[in-house]
Formats: sequence, C-alpha cells, structure tokens
Amino acid sequence: MTMKFLYQGNAARIVFGLGASADVGRWLVELGCKRALVLSTPHQAADGEVLAKRLGGLAVGVFPGATMHTPVEVTERAIAHAAALDADCVVSLGGGSTTGLGKAMAYRTDIPQIVVPTTYAGSEVTPILGQTEGGIKTTLRSPKVVPEVVIYDAALTIGLPVAMSVTSGLNAIAHSAEALYASDRNPITNMMAVDGIRALKEALPIIVDKPQDMEAREKALYGAWLCGTVLGQVAMSLHHKICHTLGGSFDTPHAETHAIMLPHTIGFNAAAVPELLQPVSDIFGGTPGQSLYDFAKSIGSPLALRDFGLSESDLDRAAEIATRNPYDNPRPIDRDSIRSLLQDAWGGRRPPL
Ligand code: NAD
Repeated sequence: MTMKFLYQGNAARIVFGLGASADVGRWLVELGCKRALVLSTPHQAADGEVLAKRLGGLAVGVFPGATMHTPVEVTERAIAHAAALDADCVVSLGGGSTTGLGKAMAYRTDIPQIVVPTTYAGSEVTPILGQTEGGIKTTLRSPKVVPEVVIYDAALTIGLPVAMSVTSGLNAIAHSAEALYASDRNPITNMMAVDGIRALKEALPIIVDKPQDMEAREKALYGAWLCGTVLGQVAMSLHHKICHTLGGSFDTPHAETHAIMLPHTIGFNAAAVPELLQPVSDIFGGTPGQSLYDFAKSIGSPLALRDFGLSESDLDRAAEIATRNPYDNPRPIDRDSIRSLLQDAWGGRRPPL
C-alpha cells in the first residue's frame, strides 16, 4: 500500500499538566506580554477575577461578557475594553464560548491569546471561528485565530457539572469520529482520533460516578485535546453540518445537540464506510451508531432532540437546510434519508446501525 498525504499542524504551544494553569504568568512573560485582559463568561466571572488577581501586575482586568455563538457586538465591546485598558494580550478562561471571543478579537486585532480550557469542546486548538451577526452564524478558518499558548489543567475541569462533562465529552468524540472518514485524513489525525475517542470512552463513565476523580478528569481533557486537534486539521461532514444547522437555525444547545446526533450521523455513515469506522466499533463494542447510542445512554446523556425545544414540524425544514448545499460526506446524502435520521434523533430512538 502506498501513502500520500498532507499534514498541517497548528502553531499553538500545548502545555498539559495538573497545576499547569499556575504558570499563566510565566507564559505571558515568555510571549513578551505585560498587560493581560482575562476573558470569561458571566458564569465564570469569579474564576476570572481569581486568575487576574493571581497574575498581579501582569493583568489589567477581566471582561466577563463571553457568550454562546460569539456575537460580533460582544467582540466589539471586548476590543474596545481591551483598548481602553491598553491590554497587550488576552487570557481566555472557560469553554468554547470564551475561547471563541478571544479568537474573534485576535482575528480583528492580532492580539496574542493564552487559552485555559475548562470544557472538552476543543475550540482552543482549531483555526475555526464561528460568530453571529444579526442572527446569522458564519464560520471562517484563519491561522490568525489560533492561540499562541493553550494550558490544559484538569484541576479546572473538576467543577464542570457531570451533565456538561457528558455532553461536552460526546461533542469531542464527534470531532474524532468524523475525522476517521474525512477525505483529507492522514495517519497522524487517525492516531489522534482513535486515542482521543478511547481516552474519553474510558474517562467519562468514571467522571459520571466520581466527578472529582482527577485521573479521569485528566484523561478526558487529554482526549479533548486530541479530538479538538483533529477537528482543526481535517474536514468535518454530515454530523457537524447537521449540528450547525440545528444550532444556527433552531437555537438548540451546542454540546447537547452534538451528543444526541452523534449515534445517528455516525450510524448513517457506517453503512458506507464500516472499515473506516472500525475503530469506533472496536472501542465501543458493536455497530458504530448503536454502540455510541448505548454508551451515551449509559452515561446519562440526553438522547432526544424533542427535549430541546425542537418541534416535530421543524424536522422538514431542518432536513431541507442540512441538504441544501452539497458537501463532502462518505455516504451520499438526500433529503429523505436525512429527514428520517432526524426523526430518530428527535424521538430518541436507537439508530438502525
Ligand atoms: P460554553 O463555553 O458555552 O460553556 C457553557 C457554560 O458552562 C458557560 O456558562 C461556561 O461558563 C460554563 N463552564 C465552562 N466550563 C466550566 C467549568 N469547568 N465549571 C463550571 N462551569 C463551566 O460551552 P462549550 O460547549 O465549551 O462551547 C460551546 C461553544 O463553542 C459554541 O458556541 C460552539 O460553536 C463553540 N465551539 C467552537 C469550536 C471551534 O473550533 N471554533 C469548537 C467547538 C465549540
């Protein structure tokens, strides 16, 4: 067998380890930064304040206004706030929403970013920026949004509620599952995807039983890094497309939507490329879609879209939007089959494959 591939890594420095977030100040100095603005959501404002206090003279303030879907008006307010404080970098402390704000600022101003992730979403290691303006969500790819330093410290994920740990972990698995059949996959992304899925498969049930188990938290965060990395390196297909449609047009919550859709989209594609999804079968023990469904159920994941504000009458339009523009997918997509897959996910039914 011959091999031919392109591998493009991203420039971020990855710092991984328990207690590593204590070194944010050292990394600021390494970057030549002296006036950091800490970013957080309103929910994590107190954590942002603690971090800023710990940074002492290296921090100029906290902007606790990050929110879902990276609205442009919030980005503009954060940029104005950073300018008023003469900030020379941002430290994003939080999940994908906070990371998204820092990336949106960097896209416009080139401000250096240190990201300290507290969920498993993976945005911190991708060159992807999703943002909303006037209710429309758009996505772009640019090396400008890749953070300079990412500091993974499992101690900061201990407080991630179990329900969010489950859905965020399944969100991460979705990145890797789709990476396994991406047309631009390569041996490195395959290795990372398989190891990332395995780490999360092992860690999540332990976190459900013992949320304070630091070893499991560390393993889940390691898996999240791998899964986020492949998300940033290869093209995503049906699964991410449908989740983007549901989130963008029907306002369903990000991680829950991924968690619910995962068995259905992967099961659908397994019919076309069972050999590429064999690692999923090996890790979860069964057909890809059904074993992912059983796993999600066993760790208490939500299973039905109908529980998240989507009405059955929305499914026709969702199927229409999700199949409107052609995109790369291992199995040909048509409106009827996507409608039927959405029906299963809406009702929380176990997928056929
Ligand atoms: P989130 O960042 O919106 O966080 C959800 C809530 O949980 C927030 O209130 C947050 O403050 C809180 N939270 C986060 N970590 C916590 C912790 N350890 N303890 C207690 N509370 C905590 O959720 P998310 O799922 O991480 O991110 C979703 C967003 O990220 C979406 O907008 C999605 O589009 C984006 N995203 C982007 C990419 C990309 O590559 N661009 C990748 C994945 C996700």
